[in-house]
Amino acid sequence: MEGSRDEAGEQLQNWKNTRADLNLDTLTTGAGHPVGDKLNVITAGPRGPQLIQDSVFIDEMAHFDRERIPERVVHAKGAGAFGYFEVTHDITKYCKAKIFQHVGKRTSASVRFSSVGGESGSADTVRDPRGFACKFYTEDGIWDLVGNNTPIFFIRDPFLFPSFIHTQKRNPQTHLKDADMTWDFFSLRPETLHQISFLFSDRGLPDGHRHMNGYGSHTFKLVNDKQEAVYCKFHMKTNQGIKNLSAEAANCLASDDPDYSIRDLYNAIATGNPPSWSMYIQVMSFQEARVHRWNPFDVTKIWPHNEFPLIPVGQLVLNKNPVNYFADVEQIAFDPSNMPQGIEPSPDKMLQGRLFSYPDTHRHRLGANYLQLPVNCPFKCRVANYQRDGPMCSTDNQGGAPNYYPNSFSAPETQPQAIEHSLAVTNDVARYCSNEDDFCQVTSFYVNVLNADERRRLCANVAGSLKDAQLFIRRRMVDLLTKVHVEFGAQVSSLLEKHNAANPQKAMIKTYSRHTSECAATSEKSNL
Ligand code: NDP
Repeated sequence: MEGSRDEAGEQLQNWKNTRADLNLDTLTTGAGHPVGDKLNVITAGPRGPQLIQDSVFIDEMAHFDRERIPERVVHAKGAGAFGYFEVTHDITKYCKAKIFQHVGKRTSASVRFSSVGGESGSADTVRDPRGFACKFYTEDGIWDLVGNNTPIFFIRDPFLFPSFIHTQKRNPQTHLKDADMTWDFFSLRPETLHQISFLFSDRGLPDGHRHMNGYGSHTFKLVNDKQEAVYCKFHMKTNQGIKNLSAEAANCLASDDPDYSIRDLYNAIATGNPPSWSMYIQVMSFQEARVHRWNPFDVTKIWPHNEFPLIPVGQLVLNKNPVNYFADVEQIAFDPSNMPQGIEPSPDKMLQGRLFSYPDTHRHRLGANYLQLPVNCPFKCRVANYQRDGPMCSTDNQGGAPNYYPNSFSAPETQPQAIEHSLAVTNDVARYCSNEDDFCQVTSFYVNVLNADERRRLCANVAGSLKDAQLFIRRRMVDLLTKVHVEFGAQVSSLLEKHNAANPQKAMIKTYSRHTSECAATSEKSNL
């Protein structure tokens, strides 16, 4: 019986078709020994016991026992694809990075899209920011632009990052997602309001990975060939158009097709429909940064478009699926500190914290030589340094070249033109509690960006999650929302009251029957 099958479902058949003319491979052990029988272990007599000399079995089982590497602490569930970046507009007056060298220049790229809080097997369509991490393989080494689908983030100080992520993960005793943890943290930290408002708006449930924007989120520094620098933000706008899922559709997909976004991306590329994004930058001079009313290095804030207009740069096109998920996607390692000449960090504290934490986690997950893995290695340039050895070294380990510097025998030498842009800093070394305005931009988002229907859905989505937290947390959160806009606080408060009236015992038991009725009665849910 013929069913309707997509390209992802046909993968094995397609793979077989590409090999139709080839002889079948000979089955071997990991060490290359041909295997005579793959169905029966070696035993003393037909009923056993098994012999430890069965090295074919041991080779297979011991490798199986070690198949998993540590899951990413965040962004564990993801999809990857490959393609290229092409320059369409000249920005060399701002940046000397080779990727932007001239109009028409193409650079190989890979991208990993992800959700943040869930485990590797979690559903794709949950309300969560989406990771949007790009790797560009340039002649001056790797550039990783490790962003999200939002131009802002929940917190501005990296000290809070582990705690913040814990609140998005599981309760240490119950191993359940915990609304008290989530909303306790949010309501204690008003700088989260801007990102919360994005997350609970329509864009918090993108329809797959192709229909969302990506943002570098942080402020970066661009340096030109005269060593002149500006600050910069990166934007990747989807050419497929923004498309979001309703909360009801997302809930249904979470059970019907939890890998919806991976499948959508794979099928689009496999059917010759490569998704693309247009890259833009915003540019701010050092002088503007000194006097701007908002701290330009605060990642909980955007730079207004009318003051810092988007400047077009190029196109990112994804036209190749991974050949092997583990090799190409599970092992891909993005690191914001991978910046080629011309792109540098700004003082953005969250970025500074990530510069340490990303390569640190890769050394833990993949080992000290993770940059030798094919998907991570800077194949457009030759790596030459004084690093040697370590587990799983898979190159010639730089052969007989000297492993100390300086030495009298050979390069590699340092390159004075690669010296970083210098930045004068005079201030007291201390732990600074920033005193930023956490409300103004959120108010602008609520009032000027969202229309009345979008505001109504935002309030319903916030209340639909906040209702599971206990009373004092709900009250504290409503107070914060009221500071954004009285209507925001009042709407959420009234929805919470309605919910309380309908659920006097505050029972939060999510039964199977309640879930299925939610899927069926799609339009009623937004009324809580
Ligand atoms: P603008 O009116 O120039 O920009 C608003 C931007 O909001 C749009 O360009 C679009 O950015 C984005 N947007 C539109 N609809 C939605 C939506 N439903 N949900 C989320 N984002 C949406 O104003 P400003 O630049 O002065 O910013 C005003 C507010 O807009 C900010 O406080 C911020 O909350 C929000 N915003 C600003 C962005 C920026 O970089 N300036 C980017 C995104 C949001 P895009 O094309 O990138 O999707």
